[in-house]
Amino acid sequence: MRSIGFFGGTFDPIHLGHLRLALELKQQLALDEMHLLPCYIPPHRASPSVDAQQRLAMLQLALADCTELRWDARELQREKPSYTFDTLSELRAELGADVSLSWCMGMDSFAGLDSWHRWQELIGLAHLVVVARPGWEQPTTGPIADLVAQHRANADEIHTSAAGKLVILEQRLLPISATEIRAQIGAGESPQFLLPDAVLEYLRAQVLYGY
Ligand code: ATP
Repeated sequence: MRSIGFFGGTFDPIHLGHLRLALELKQQLALDEMHLLPCYIPPHRASPSVDAQQRLAMLQLALADCTELRWDARELQREKPSYTFDTLSELRAELGADVSLSWCMGMDSFAGLDSWHRWQELIGLAHLVVVARPGWEQPTTGPIADLVAQHRANADEIHTSAAGKLVILEQRLLPISATEIRAQIGAGESPQFLLPDAVLEYLRAQVLYGY
C-alpha cells in the first residue's frame, strides 16, 4: 500500500528542527512520500512583514536540494484558516481509499486535539502520528487518553490499513524554535546554522523579521 505523511506547521520561519523531524519521520515510518504543509495564519496574527507567500518561498528554498521531502500549499491557497478535518477529507478524496495517510503532529498539538473541528472523525481519515515533545505529557485521562487506548498501534501498522492507527514516537528533537529565531533576529543576533543557508539568504534579501 502506498503511504504518505503530512507534517503541518506555521513554519514562520521553517528551520532545521522541522526539516530534520520530517525527514526522520519519513525514514522511520518507511513512508513513500512526506509533505510539509504550511498553515494559513490570519493576517492579524502573522509576523509583521512576513506573509504566507514568503513562508512558502522559504519552505521551497529549504527543500530545493531535498528529494525526500515535498511541500503542499493547499492550506495557504484557501486564504482562510483550514480545519485539519477539511484538509484530510480533501486529501482522502484526491488520493482514494487505498493509500495510507499519516497526519504527523507534536504532543503539544495532540494534547489539545479534542478542541479541533470534528476531531473524532480524523482517525477515520488518516493515521495520527504523535511525536513526544519535551515539556508535554501525554494525557492519561479524558477523551484524548480514550482515543489513545482505542487506537494505539506500532509504527509498522500504518502500512496495513489506510487510516485508524495512532502511533506515538519518542523522537529526538533539535532544540530549535521559530519563536527563538525571530527573537534572536529582533535582538540583532545571527540565526546562522539554525536554518538552511538559502533561507537565511532569503531573510536577508527580503529583510524579514527585521534581519
Ligand atoms: P516555535 O518553534 O516557535 O515553537 P513551532 O516551530 O513549534 O514554533 P510550527 O511551525 O507551527 O511552530 O511547528 C510545526 C510543528 O513542528 C509542530 O508540530 C511542532 O511540534 C514541530 N516542531 C517545532 N519545533 C521543532 C523542533 N525543534 N524539532 C522538531 N519539531 C519541531
